[in-house]
Amino acid sequence: MSTPTVTAVRGDITAQHVDAVVNAANRRMRGGGGVDGAIHRAGGPAVLADCIVRFPRGLATGDAGWTTAGDLPARWVIHTVGPNFRAGERDRTLLTSCYRRALEVADDLGARTVAFPLISSGIYGWPADDAIDAAVETLTATMCDVEEARIVAFDDGLLERLEQRLRRPPY
Ligand code: ADP
Repeated sequence: MSTPTVTAVRGDITAQHVDAVVNAANRRMRGGGGVDGAIHRAGGPAVLADCIVRFPRGLATGDAGWTTAGDLPARWVIHTVGPNFRAGERDRTLLTSCYRRALEVADDLGARTVAFPLISSGIYGWPADDAIDAAVETLTATMCDVEEARIVAFDDGLLERLEQRLRRPPY
């Protein structure tokens, strides 16, 4: 066990060739917008079918769990529910918990490469710079068997901010 190497790329989470991709899901666990919509569209109906079986009562904010990745290039989807900043959920430990729990689930699965979106920074409205800090701080400090934790930025602006943050140790 050690801490993962954290990398940043620009791209689409659904196109990542990794063992597991992380979904920025919601508590209902029945699909949604943003990353969630993209993962269900690209993964196909097997992802929702597995969500219904594994999460009959949904998932708590800050928690994570896994399903098949269906037609995605990854083997598994690790779903996590970020805090909805826009709706007043502003406890930062819920956001860091998403990254920690996702790595724990990755360890349970034996996943060595895991791609993350910037959880809560889209529809849920968490300020991007603090969302980046929370991701980098947590991923670089969590002991696990994951070798690469790849943060996928959807646009060039976000990638630049992520790369700047990764060049600025200590994390
Ligand atoms: P949340 O509801 O947790 O805020 P979103 O899916 O709305 O989650 O957004 C999380 C982050 O992922 C945002 O920075 C958003 O721009 C980005 N994003 C949206 N779609 C994709 C995608 N297909 N691949 C990677 N990142 C994405």
